[in-house]
Amino acid sequence: MSDTTINDIVALCKRRGFIFTGSEIYGGLGGAYDYGPYGVELMKNIRNAWWNAMIYSRNDIEGLDAALISNKLLWKYSGHEGNFSDPLVECKKCGTRMRQDKMRDPSKCDNCGSTDLTPPRAYQLMMGLSIGAVADGAINAYLRPETATTTYTNFKNVLDATPHKLPFGIAQIGKAFRNEISPRGFVFRMREFEQAEMQYFVDPETDEQYFNMWRDTRVAWWVNVLGIPADKLRITPHEKLAHYAKAAVDIEYEFPDGFDEVEGIHNRQDFDLGSHTKCQNEFNINAHVMENRDSTVKLAYSDAQTGKSFIPYVIETAMGVNRAMLAVMLNAYTVEDLGDGKTRTVLKLRPLLSPVKAAVIPLARNVPELQTIANNIENALRKLGIGRIELENSGNIGKNYRRHDEIGTPVCITVDHQSIDDGTVTVRHRDTMAQERIKITDIPAFVRDICEMK
Ligand code: ATP
Repeated sequence: MSDTTINDIVALCKRRGFIFTGSEIYGGLGGAYDYGPYGVELMKNIRNAWWNAMIYSRNDIEGLDAALISNKLLWKYSGHEGNFSDPLVECKKCGTRMRQDKMRDPSKCDNCGSTDLTPPRAYQLMMGLSIGAVADGAINAYLRPETATTTYTNFKNVLDATPHKLPFGIAQIGKAFRNEISPRGFVFRMREFEQAEMQYFVDPETDEQYFNMWRDTRVAWWVNVLGIPADKLRITPHEKLAHYAKAAVDIEYEFPDGFDEVEGIHNRQDFDLGSHTKCQNEFNINAHVMENRDSTVKLAYSDAQTGKSFIPYVIETAMGVNRAMLAVMLNAYTVEDLGDGKTRTVLKLRPLLSPVKAAVIPLARNVPELQTIANNIENALRKLGIGRIELENSGNIGKNYRRHDEIGTPVCITVDHQSIDDGTVTVRHRDTMAQERIKITDIPAFVRDICEMK
């Protein structure tokens, strides 16, 4: 286990503008965080890396961005209204409310150690809304607690609009809301968070093959794209399967407190499309589903060759983007001993994920020739469209290097007096601190190569 703690990351996030406490000036709100200038970039880069792998690198997955608010019936037939709950236990001595399945010892209060606890009761996790001009404020809609359900209800829309045959998938990235009993671990467990989920629709005969394929594909993405070492990840099968699942594993990352879930891979059988389809009796639905009298569409697939119409099985990959960002930051966070009691903190992110791709630093302030060269380099780099470029103008190069080390900028480009004479600049590499002189005209290609590094 590394020595980095969650508190190291919390402090860096606040100091350097990655993540702030939500509603901070009014004392905060449990389980809600605001993402600052570098946090939004890192989140966007993780999202893009996922979208790139799931959609642009393949020909069998489509994208979707469904509404966050939806008809209540979606959540009735998905089973969430009846079953999406956690077991809530309350300590009669100190009043602490806890999620029983996450307690250190379910017989003792996590806060005061008392054994005088209430029996667990099911606590609904969905956040209810009162939409429109309703007089009584009664709940008539929900904020979605996951992206998956709106993917299932759009199955036929996407199938009709695109030329796919089975197997094919639909991917979504977006916000989800859960009224978590005890948000914890910084952005690990929040009440508002972001998911990147993909539902892969397959012929029921092939479900095991695709479940294994997606488990392996997703682990490889964590290693090869996010740069997480394989020995910091493990695959844990669910001890108790949800009633609709045929198989389920969690991909877990080794957080400072131990391994915990970052992504789930689930074989959901025909539960979802079977729950939301009309004319359920026409199909041989394997999962146990609630009778649906409200759906207006058959969510089935017709095989053109066999003429067979059936409900496909679903293999789901469900990742938390905020948890991915936390894992990436923990893994990249490095404190190096520079001797003489000095240290430096570096975020050794893969350049693909770095919030700032390059910093351009004129060595001295108020020297017009240096400023002009720096501005020209900055503009040439911006034109590459590779992401955020920063021009520093404080004249304090040591401070600039420290800041860019901490936010994970792969290279700093320093313009000095020699640049005026020979058209070269100093490039300083974040991880090694090695410096080299490069021709200004070569800088755009050099930075682009670094950022495209696989
Ligand atoms: P947990 O057991 O931790 O509550 P889960 O099994 O309910 O999670 P899923 O419904 O499978 O989670 O959601 C998929 C992913 O969404 C999880 O692997 C996790 O990365 C992320 N996620 C779930 N709940 C939260 C939350 N409250 N805050 C941040 N991320 C979350």
